Amino acid sequence: MIMIESNFIKTIMENDLETGKVKEIVTRFPPEPNAYLHIGHARAIITNFELAKLFGGKTYLRFDDTNPAKEDVEYVEAIKKDVEWLGYKPYKITFGSDYFDYQYEKAVLLIKKGLAYVDDLSQEEIAKYRGTLTEPGIESPYRNRSVEENLELFERMRKGEFKEGEKVLRAKIDMSSPNLNLRDPILYRILHIEHHQTKDKWCIYPMYDFAHPLQDACEGITHSLCSLEFENNRPLYEWVIENCETDHIPRQIEFGRLNITNTVMSKRYLKQLVDEGKVTGYDDPRMPTLVGLRRRGVTPEAIKAFILSTGLSRVNSTVDVDQFEHFIREDLKPKVSRIMAVVDPIKVVITNYPEGKIEYLDAVNNAENPDLGSRKIAFSRYLYIERDDFTLEKPNKNYKRLALGLEVRLMHAYFIKCNDVILDENGNIKEIHCTYDEQTKSGSGFNARKPNGTIHYVEATTARKATFNLFEPLIIDDENDDRPFIERVNPNSWIKKYGFVEGSIPSTNVLDSYQFIRNGYYTVDKESTEDNLVFNRTVALKSSYR
Ligand code: ATP
Ligand code: MG
Repeated sequence: MIMIESNFIKTIMENDLETGKVKEIVTRFPPEPNAYLHIGHARAIITNFELAKLFGGKTYLRFDDTNPAKEDVEYVEAIKKDVEWLGYKPYKITFGSDYFDYQYEKAVLLIKKGLAYVDDLSQEEIAKYRGTLTEPGIESPYRNRSVEENLELFERMRKGEFKEGEKVLRAKIDMSSPNLNLRDPILYRILHIEHHQTKDKWCIYPMYDFAHPLQDACEGITHSLCSLEFENNRPLYEWVIENCETDHIPRQIEFGRLNITNTVMSKRYLKQLVDEGKVTGYDDPRMPTLVGLRRRGVTPEAIKAFILSTGLSRVNSTVDVDQFEHFIREDLKPKVSRIMAVVDPIKVVITNYPEGKIEYLDAVNNAENPDLGSRKIAFSRYLYIERDDFTLEKPNKNYKRLALGLEVRLMHAYFIKCNDVILDENGNIKEIHCTYDEQTKSGSGFNARKPNGTIHYVEATTARKATFNLFEPLIIDDENDDRPFIERVNPNSWIKKYGFVEGSIPSTNVLDSYQFIRNGYYTVDKESTEDNLVFNRTVALKSSYR
């Protein structure tokens, strides 16, 4: 079992339980349903769920849906599926909008306490009056409206009597605070938009900074974990909790965001890639979205092991994509059958093997995992080998594959020796002619000669046609390239190869994964058919970055 290592949040939780500050650990994962989740979100999901689990607590999945303009139920459903796929069952699935009534009451309470006011300034004026880090802000001329007037105006805002942008509700805190978030932040704005959950019940919507702490309070969240960019919002979070006099007092704790080299991890950028057609969709296997990774063949176990290996710190961190790939390989290695596929074939004729004969040779599916069983692999006069495993050039002594006059072992089968190469009219290899030695059958213990290496093959008449999708990073990190991100998209990041897999491949359901010997881990794509199998290379056998 994978265990979460010691980290600063775990220590805080231990202390809070020990001192009796909290009775149980309650966390939440609060995505905004405006995009698909990516591998960065996995850090937040895993951290929240694993920590609560460790202490026998619970975790909510709460949709932070206070901005109906950008949200959609499509994302709600996708996010639920992603969390479940990662192996987590939320204690409850809730929506921030479930608490709109409560938030409204708390806004009224703030007005009554003289801590909130309705402002008529425009968006631009509010921004201008806010001041800068070096200059204090200017108070709005509407800041000192009476409680009665504020209550009446806020009620009229709720009833839909004003246009968008005409009025907002602001907290009355401190226009000269060194923390810009405390300079009378907006609590509610008018949006005449139907909400995907509450439909047309509301035309005023709370801002994140006001809504979030109240939602946490409603659910009894003890440790409200969020990424580092919310650090400066913490004083406001605490201000809301204190002044709204909530029954429960949650605590916000920030952790560092996870970045991965050569990987775009911002929702905005991922959306742009989809909208501009640079990828085939959110589940494009090159995307770092959870749906993309799943389609590519990455398992939830690999994601978890990787995320936990990155630890959890207070600062943002960048991890090498190599590290992610390492965990993908480690997870698949004992789990999947190792079979033979030729992604870029050349035809081989075994001239001394009888026409029409096929024999079947034994092979175990995974020497590390007997549960995966064994299979029979075909061998005949017609085979395919990998183009890369043959050279027309005169080989040097380090070359461990096939060439004219050389002998190699075909994995699970016989030694073959190349005697002739047939070229087409353009000088390309059409087929190669070899002879096999019956004595050298795999498993026979033959050791009279040493072959010039071992290569894999597939038998041609039983082989199944396949398309192999190979992927390169969508965007390559390069400090010296300052072009906008969308221009740095790698146009050659999806490479298609056409070849064959052995006819004895155990099964070809979508998401079935294999190790293709000497090549990499591959997973059956959703576009795969019986007549043309399609595989996505999940990860190469060896790192290509070294
Ligand atoms: P983005 O910046 O990509 O648009 P977001 O933070 O706005 O993402 P949310 O839906 O608000 O997206 O994210 C839900 C949770 O996931 C938040 O608590 C956020 O902090 C966390 N999260 C998002 N990206 C990362 C990341 N790269 N590393 C760690 N946590 C992340
Ligand atoms: Mg966010």
